[in-house]
Amino acid sequence: MSATNIIPEDWKPAAKMQRIICHWTAGAHKASDFDRGHYHILIEADGKLIRGIPTIDANQAPVGKNYAAHTLNCNTGSIGVSLCCMADAVEAPFNPGKHPMTEKQWDTLAAVVADLCREYKIPVGPKTVLSHAEVQSNLGIQQRGKWDFTRLAFAPSVKGAQACGDNLRAAVAKLL
Ligand SMILES: [Zn+2]
Repeated sequence: MSATNIIPEDWKPAAKMQRIICHWTAGAHKASDFDRGHYHILIEADGKLIRGIPTIDANQAPVGKNYAAHTLNCNTGSIGVSLCCMADAVEAPFNPGKHPMTEKQWDTLAAVVADLCREYKIPVGPKTVLSHAEVQSNLGIQQRGKWDFTRLAFAPSVKGAQACGDNLRAAVAKLL
């Protein structure tokens, strides 16, 4: 499978970007306007890509006022990608709710991240390709504890922020 150019060219303006931070919206399977305000690229349950309202270059240093605010104190140089899913999900005991993350979303995420890594020359590593749930541990930037990638609804054996992040990075590396 090739990940080349899954993202439309005009969604990828020239910019100096350091990392890609992946999220889930904690919303429904479709992107809302609220969701679109916080990320650069969203992925719906069927794998459809939705462009966020802020552009990637708005998060280039120094950030202006229309940047995507997706990660507390870590938006500068960070591309934000989010999967539309996990509304009303419960962390423990795990219940993914009525809008669980789909395998199609996860596979599409790997292809999107690989495309971004290639475009912005971002290496795949735990500080450069990571989930929001890994920001505190991998970058040392404290977050407010919004729940993010610690479980994959379609793959119950993958548990914990690092396991999910490692799974993503391995999938991305395979596509590069
Ligand atoms: Zn997040």
